[in-house]
Amino acid sequence: MIIAGVDIGNASTETALGSLEGNGVRFLASGIVDTTGIKGTLQNIHGVFASIKQAADKTGIPVEDIGFVSLNEATPVIGDVAMETITETIITESTLIGHNPHTPGGEGIGSGITIPIREIPGTGVGRDYITIIDGSVDYEEAAAVINDAVKRGVGIKGAIVQRDDAVLIVNRLARPIPVVDEVKFIEKVPAGMPAVVEVARAGGVVEMLSNPYGIATVFGLDPEETKFIVPIARALIGNRSAVVIKTPAGDVTERIIPAGKLQIIGETKTIGVDIEAGSEAIMKAVLEAAPVADVKGEAGTNVGGMLERVRQTLSNLTDRLPGDIKIQDLLAVDTFNPQKVSGGVAEEFSMENAVGLAAMVKSDRLQMDMIARELTEQMKINVGVGGIEADMAIQGALTTPGVTSPLAVIDMGAGSTDASIIKKNGGVKSIHLAGAGNMVTLLIQTELGLDSWEIAEDIKRYPLARVESLFHIRHEDGTVEFFKEALPPSTFARTILIKDRAFVPIPISASIEKIRTVRKEAKEKVFVTNSLRALTMVTETGNIREIDFVVLVGGSALDFEVPQLVTDALSRYGIVAGRGNVRGIEGPRNAVATGLVLNYRREHA
Ligand code: ADP
Ligand code: MG
Repeated sequence: MIIAGVDIGNASTETALGSLEGNGVRFLASGIVDTTGIKGTLQNIHGVFASIKQAADKTGIPVEDIGFVSLNEATPVIGDVAMETITETIITESTLIGHNPHTPGGEGIGSGITIPIREIPGTGVGRDYITIIDGSVDYEEAAAVINDAVKRGVGIKGAIVQRDDAVLIVNRLARPIPVVDEVKFIEKVPAGMPAVVEVARAGGVVEMLSNPYGIATVFGLDPEETKFIVPIARALIGNRSAVVIKTPAGDVTERIIPAGKLQIIGETKTIGVDIEAGSEAIMKAVLEAAPVADVKGEAGTNVGGMLERVRQTLSNLTDRLPGDIKIQDLLAVDTFNPQKVSGGVAEEFSMENAVGLAAMVKSDRLQMDMIARELTEQMKINVGVGGIEADMAIQGALTTPGVTSPLAVIDMGAGSTDASIIKKNGGVKSIHLAGAGNMVTLLIQTELGLDSWEIAEDIKRYPLARVESLFHIRHEDGTVEFFKEALPPSTFARTILIKDRAFVPIPISASIEKIRTVRKEAKEKVFVTNSLRALTMVTETGNIREIDFVVLVGGSALDFEVPQLVTDALSRYGIVAGRGNVRGIEGPRNAVATGLVLNYRREHA
């Protein structure tokens, strides 16, 4: 008889097709398709059917020959993610900060008093100036005025330009100066104020103006004033060029937005925590309140709105009233959210502090039975709910060569991280936690300011490189690879993703180092945190050192760095951990589906 084990996940629906032979199972093929609809709803049926069909087609066996389809008894966990910014940078008056035009000109640091270019011909010698060049002055004229002035002995130390003309101007100067261009609202730049322009060499970042003490040095600030310019320095980190102007009334402040309070309602106690307190405090509260029965946000605050949205989404998806949606776990991570600076003059962005939240609810088991009944009718095959997801994951993971019980499995999917442990006596304990692959993608998307989820997903999955010439690329680890044939010109001087063998340029100006750091930290914040949380919860004593072996399964265990990050973190507790290889051939995929087939064999021996 042929059995299909089918695992309906948040992201993928996986099938294992096995033939019962003697006392064992001979596995025939696997299938994987995207889950249709939300896990645990009737829409899943299309995906289940496609996944089974895919596996059956590989073997040439007609679907009708399948004797039984075994579904996971999922306590379907549905995750949702949200993000809230908790700081805001505001510029009053006209202090210009942190501007990253595509092509600034010159190099180095210049400081002086701001002066419109039209006033330069009448100025005397003896002072240093930063000239303001509005859009009515073209680059030829601007360069000529600066060259004349410098010849007369006037110190022109830098320029702020409205048009995209920096390189054109600098190329015409007898003595190059740092020039920042594309300053859209140049009329807001005040004249007669002390200013500093800094432009780093190509590929570099500003160093003086991104350092509070650097700014203090060039403007001669006292310690009290230095405290106030910290947000400016922070906003400039990572920029190639910058201008800071000291206006008497001008001020840059960082405002904390009252993001509101979270109420973590535990089965025995309720703990309140401010979102501004950051992820560490929130996670501490979640741990203290565990087991969590629900989470609420203060009404009328940002976090209140955010949790309501989560509840609303989940309610739409599950056909339950928002009030019946109980959030059973929460993962909070600290992150940054690039936001347009209010009052900026060149559409500057500043990296504001934000908190990302992943929430999870458990939905009804009954729904799985409903899916099974519906499938039986449509497919004319017996379909049943075969076993608890966590049990099945363990059975599947145990087919990894070199693995034996007792052991813990961490299933890293899209919406949730699930862990289970099989004890010496065969008992299994499992837990579902909020936050997995989708949360990593969201963090990458927000921190890099990407419009597209798909690009963020690709950045998560594929390593980076820079096309340095048409015949060589530099990989993110610094190694250089040469090619005999010229690379496509469209990739030249671009940051690319190495997607299998294809080179895909990405539309981001951030440096490779920056992208890589964001990517890695996002994975760490979600998967290292959740692995430690999960293992702590499945052990009886909360001491994860009692675990010897951990097998990582699920789509996110395919990641090219997640398993290493988790292995590394767990090795500090003396735990051997690694990516699973289900049935010796499936890698970390198909664990639950495989477990379902094996379990059917055991129950019908
Ligand atoms: P579920 O059990 O929730 O259906 P899966 O086990 O299919 O989830 O895992 C889906 C997650 O795995 C998604 O977040 C997806 O981005 C991630 N994923 C899939 N393939 C890769 C890969 N090659 N590298 C990194 N992440 C991956
Ligand atoms: Mg899964």
